[in-house]
Parts: sequence; structure tokens; C-alpha cells
Amino acid sequence: MMTRMEREEIQKIVEQAIQDGKNTLYEGKVASYIPELAKANSSNLGVCIETKEGEIYASGDYSIPFTVQSISKTFSLILALQTAGYEKVFSKIGMEPTGDRFDSILQLELKDWKPFNPMINAGAIVTASCIDLPKGFEEFLRLVRRLCGNDQIWLNENVYRSEKKTGTRNRSIAYLLKSDGVLEGEPEEVLDLYFRMCSIMVTAKDLAHYAMILSNRGEDPVTGEQLVDRDIVRIVKTLMLLCGMYDQSGEYAVKVGLPSKSGVGGGIVAVAPGGMGIGTFGPMLNQKGNSVGGEQILRTLSEKLNLHLFA
Ligand code: GLN
Repeated sequence: MMTRMEREEIQKIVEQAIQDGKNTLYEGKVASYIPELAKANSSNLGVCIETKEGEIYASGDYSIPFTVQSISKTFSLILALQTAGYEKVFSKIGMEPTGDRFDSILQLELKDWKPFNPMINAGAIVTASCIDLPKGFEEFLRLVRRLCGNDQIWLNENVYRSEKKTGTRNRSIAYLLKSDGVLEGEPEEVLDLYFRMCSIMVTAKDLAHYAMILSNRGEDPVTGEQLVDRDIVRIVKTLMLLCGMYDQSGEYAVKVGLPSKSGVGGGIVAVAPGGMGIGTFGPMLNQKGNSVGGEQILRTLSEKLNLHLFA
């Protein structure tokens, strides 16, 4: 469907999507539980699409950097699977969606002490503990830079310090998991890696490139290099579809129908079919912690470009 459209027509749809997104911003609020994030500009909104043929469609604030936050959970899962392997990672973390908030502690005592999936905080903290490398954060940053095609991606020290200082809920999760032997290693060290991974700065354009690589089964279409194994890409995309928007994943899958991951910095990364990647940015969030503007943009794009996986 997409390929038959003219470039101009697609760009018009992208502009329309931004307009639709703007109309929803009043429904959201910027995240404030991490004090540094409260400084976000509530009117920011941007989108970028990248295809494996190298076409780029973009509008709005697609090149403004923001912290990746929970979108880091997809990169850290890739790194954990690459280094610790499938058996180890999924002996400690499940693959099931939850109906609970992203930072919930509720289920941890109810089911085997094992976090439900790697896309919620508890799961991502255990994922971080599986990245058993001497320079874990440097390796993580290297991977993100490669997959986003941008070697300028950097750590925002202010956000990192702000979250480290105030992250009592994540600390509770880590110590609880430690007390039951699910979390290996020193909780403070694991949390430090987790907070750093959440605090790197990306743009909607970076996310579009990353999603394009995931859509292209992990292969860089320009160099032909396999950046991530196909099996790992399959696992990550499946978990994004089932759990990437937390306790809104079901509704989002019905309405948008693309494997996606959000972060409280305002980003959403969405993997469209056929080698197409989409990144959005809008820091106004709904109550589930997902970008309201980004979600609307993706709804418009999914409908107008006929991208829904099950349509
Ligand atoms: N760093 C954030 C946290 O741990 C990530 C949460 C999110 O983006 N939903 O609370």
C-alpha cells in the first residue's frame, strides 16, 4: 500500500498526523516524578519515518533530543540476550503482559518473584543485572549508537543524577528482588546502570532509524551487516507488541497495531512492516505514562498508511 503512494502524499499524511497530535496535547501532563523531566517543553511534538530504501519523512520537533527512558528497555534486552543468552534472561524474567503500572511492585510477591516481562521497571532492572560486562554502560551506548545510526548519542548527567537521587520506587523493586535471589549483584550497582541507560539523549529521528533496523530483521540495509540476530529481533518485537505500552498495550495494539515502546521522556518507537521505522516525541503523557501526542500521531499514520499488523 505504502509503496504505491507518492512521496508528497506521504509527507502530507505526516503533517496531518502532527496536527492531529497537537489537538490531543491538552489531555496530557509532563512527567514530574523525576524532577529534571518536569522541565520538558509541553508543546514539543515531532515525528520521523525512515524506510529501508533510505527515505525520510519528518515533521515538527523530530531533531530535539530527549531522554530515552523506558525505550532503553528494548536496547538493554538486546544486550542482555547477546551477552547472557536466552536461557539465563528468561529464567529470571517472564514474557507475559501485566495489567499494572510500569513501576508496580504488586505482582512481585504473587508469582514466583519473577518480574512479568522485560518492558516494565522490575523486568528491566533484572535485565540490567544480566548485562554482566566490565563496561556495561559503554557497551550499551555503543549498541544504541549503532542501532540509531548516530554516534553522537550522549548521557544526560542531570537527568541521570536527578533519577538516581529520587528513584526510591526503583530502589524498592531492586532490593525486593535481591532479597529473593532473583537479582544477582549489588542492587545499587545494577540501579546505577539502569538509571544511566534511561538517561541517554535521543531524537525521534534516531528512533526511526532503530525501528527501521528492527523492521528489517536486524540488518543494516546500507551495509548488509547483521547488527542484531534475527531471533533476538523477533523476541524484542514480540514483547514490544505485548508489553511495550505497559497497561495500555492491549488498547494500543487494537488502535495502532505496531510493536512499540514508550518512555516517560515522551518518546515512542514503533516498528512498521516492510522495513519502515517510526519515532515520535511529545513529552505530554497520559496517566499510563505514554505520550498522548505520539500515540495520536501513530494512530493517524497507522490508519492512513495502512500499517496495522492485523488490518
Ligand atoms: N527511568 C524511568 C523509571 O525508571 C523509566 C520509566 C518509563 O519511561 N516509563 O521510572
